[in-house]
Amino acid sequence: MNLPRPLSLLRNSTLADGRTVDVEIIGDTVSAVLPAGSASRSADELDLAGFMLLTATADPHAHLDKSRSWDAILPPMGDLMSAIGAWRDYTAIMTEDDVADRARAQALEMLRQGTTAIRSHVDILAGDDPLLCSRALVRVRRELAGLIDLELVVLAGPDVPDVHIEAALDLGLDLVGGAPHLATDPSIDLQRLLAIAERRGSGVDLHTDESLDGPMTLHELALTVRDWTQNVSAGHCVRLGTLPADERARIIADVVASGVGIIANPITNLYLQGWDHDSSAPRGLTAARDLIDAGARFAAGADNVRDPFNPLGRSDALETAMLLVAAGHLTINEAYAAVSTGAREVMALPEAGAAPGLRAEFLAVRGTNLADAVANAPGDRYVIHAGRLVSSTTVRSETAAPSRAAHPVSIMKG
Ligand SMILES: [Zn+2]
Repeated sequence: MNLPRPLSLLRNSTLADGRTVDVEIIGDTVSAVLPAGSASRSADELDLAGFMLLTATADPHAHLDKSRSWDAILPPMGDLMSAIGAWRDYTAIMTEDDVADRARAQALEMLRQGTTAIRSHVDILAGDDPLLCSRALVRVRRELAGLIDLELVVLAGPDVPDVHIEAALDLGLDLVGGAPHLATDPSIDLQRLLAIAERRGSGVDLHTDESLDGPMTLHELALTVRDWTQNVSAGHCVRLGTLPADERARIIADVVASGVGIIANPITNLYLQGWDHDSSAPRGLTAARDLIDAGARFAAGADNVRDPFNPLGRSDALETAMLLVAAGHLTINEAYAAVSTGAREVMALPEAGAAPGLRAEFLAVRGTNLADAVANAPGDRYVIHAGRLVSSTTVRSETAAPSRAAHPVSIMKG
């Protein structure tokens, strides 16, 4: 099959609400949703009988420059600071091609699983080539244009000078990011990053309070940007999940008023947090339930995949959704929204899904309902980006049938 392949009709698919429909597409946009079997034939149709048609997943928090480095680094397992140390040692010897090759492979694997938009943080390196990862990711974004939407965030740690942040933005990175909770004075670092974003008119996506008992910067972030028009989001927000209910509610109210989007990262938080607890280790997740109930913009990503910050990860947003249910106690519908429509909203992407006028971004996965799809994460998938089929996976399987002869009833009859 030659891909990408333009599609004008998705036939016989089942939506998450149970309807079985035909979805007509013109260009990159859904033009009509009709009862199954009622659309007229089209040369560019795809029969999706037996498949769920879901809004494509989007990952609002990835690190494509770090991904797939676990096997080369073989770091000790451990917490956030040990992962940062292992990664820093490796950055001294890695090349631009190494970063580009791993980032491209990771993005394409995510696309194969159904993710048609990724926001990746990009490290600004210490040493004499601070923009090595930035150049690699800008190159990969150009190569993947038309297949996957890629947003790039300048990940400026507290020791990264302003001039390098500006240079990365000049190179084409989209948003200002950082990790103020790691700074000696988190407030000073937070305000300097926001000042750069304000001066440049850039969006902001910060690593925020990624610890169980460290600084709380989310509140100051929300209060500072409440009159901004730029898109602002905060990833992790682990500390928020540890606060007493009244303090948590007060901060969440200001987060909602400010419009700051919250991005949970369950697999990495579950891996990196809680190493120093010898019993009942906390889960390290943000206050997902409270944020959703309060009406916050809420999304979830996989964060790190197969690097010092997380040795595992399937590059599949259904894994993130599963963890939001198991570890965050969200409903299956809430969890899937966080990795699809919610993620797109936090990323300021056009609304997508099976309704007229929305972008034709779909993950079709073999299954009977949403719970079945999230539980089993079936391999059989079609992925549609901007109205074009960009990936198709078919799994072939054979399993021995149970023997009838050994059945006890047969023996008794004999
Ligand atoms: Zn991250």
